[in-house]
Amino acid sequence: MNIYELYINEEEYSDLRSDEAVRHLSEAIQINTTSYMDASKIDYAAFDRFHAKMKEWYPCIMKHGEYREIDYSVLIRIPGSDPSLKPALFMAHQDVVPVVEGTEEDWIHDPFSGDVADGYIWGRGAMDIKEMLIAELESMEYLLEHGKQFRRTVYLAFGQDEEVIGSGAIAIAKYLKEQGVELEFVLDEGGRVGSGEAYGADIAVGSIGMYEKGYADMKLSAESFGGHSSNPFRGTSLGVLAKAIAAIVDHPLENVLPASARETLRILAPYIKEGPLKEAVKDIDANEAQIIAHYLSHPDLNSQIHTTIAPTMISGGSQAGNVMPQHMEAVINFRLAPQDTDEGLLEHCRQLAGKDVKAEYIVANEASRESRFDTMGFHALQDVLSHYFRDIVFVPSVNTTATDARSYECVCDCCMRFEPFLEEPEIRAKGVHGTNEKISVRAYLQGIRVLIRMMDQLC
Ligand SMILES: [Zn+2]
Repeated sequence: MNIYELYINEEEYSDLRSDEAVRHLSEAIQINTTSYMDASKIDYAAFDRFHAKMKEWYPCIMKHGEYREIDYSVLIRIPGSDPSLKPALFMAHQDVVPVVEGTEEDWIHDPFSGDVADGYIWGRGAMDIKEMLIAELESMEYLLEHGKQFRRTVYLAFGQDEEVIGSGAIAIAKYLKEQGVELEFVLDEGGRVGSGEAYGADIAVGSIGMYEKGYADMKLSAESFGGHSSNPFRGTSLGVLAKAIAAIVDHPLENVLPASARETLRILAPYIKEGPLKEAVKDIDANEAQIIAHYLSHPDLNSQIHTTIAPTMISGGSQAGNVMPQHMEAVINFRLAPQDTDEGLLEHCRQLAGKDVKAEYIVANEASRESRFDTMGFHALQDVLSHYFRDIVFVPSVNTTATDARSYECVCDCCMRFEPFLEEPEIRAKGVHGTNEKISVRAYLQGIRVLIRMMDQLC
């Protein structure tokens, strides 16, 4: 599948100043807003420079909107004329992930060059997610410049630290809540487009992330006396730990078909031409067990219906074959489905691990709430995307990664994660958090069209 063959209506908004939009993204990439867990490594002056550029590049937004910084995050409010309409919020984050040490030489264009070459804009943040941040500003500026009068108030919100702790988005959401704001919808990064093969469907599927799974690292530890391995009378810590891990892996948690997956099957039903779902989707409730069995058997679907269990680390093993280990630790990573609580999961694992193993969390976050998709925002996003991309059906789904959007659940019941910059899957897979991150000018401009139309029609 050549993704660009799915683009339609690219001739719209022909007076969009595309060279300028490209230059702004290029310059934004050149401002090194890398996030680090160790905050002392963050160059906050770079964020100041980024903010100054936003003010310089978007005079109409600055004139009609209210610009506010909360810590280093940015919140812009463009007031609408009809206070009975709930505001919309378009978001992205300003920070980028570090370039992996030792890979600098592998970049064809320096990661902070923002080079425009061969039809691409190159550099860290080109696809995660400065393109969306700048595109939202370009779209808003375009509409205001054309005299657009917004009926609905629109917010643009750009967190400062999504890639590490997301404190910026939390602070913005808290501010909105204090102001008594309730949002109609939120649009953030995320989502994906892939083939419908997993479903047996003969059409591409665009997955709009309506929730995020939780994340937990659980530490298991076990003790033994060590000593000479000729007398392992009560077993060793390694043996005890191995049994505990096996018990946990062998007892998967409950499988539940989430509301978004049911809706996906309903939307996809007319396109499903083969495989076990073809008949099953005719009555999803009656065939639930069969549908779940298919999800469990498929590498692309199984993680959607349950909490996944991945043992990832083990340490403390003995250095010699004839010496027994003493203190040993292992870590199991879980991605929690919405039906499981972190407390319930810990109890479940403690029971299975037995009394000789201590189980505790290093970190635990439950899944986000599943956003509503029977909403104006979701249907409008589906419509606008279908206006610019043909032969893709857009469905509600789980987002595979964590985003800032979950922080807005306290002020919005329709938090959508979908970046409208459809790029070749290989370019995306290698570039995002990887080496030679880049976005095609064509994908970038088509995404801007999506955002202009969405802001114009909905707001
Ligand atoms: Zn991101």
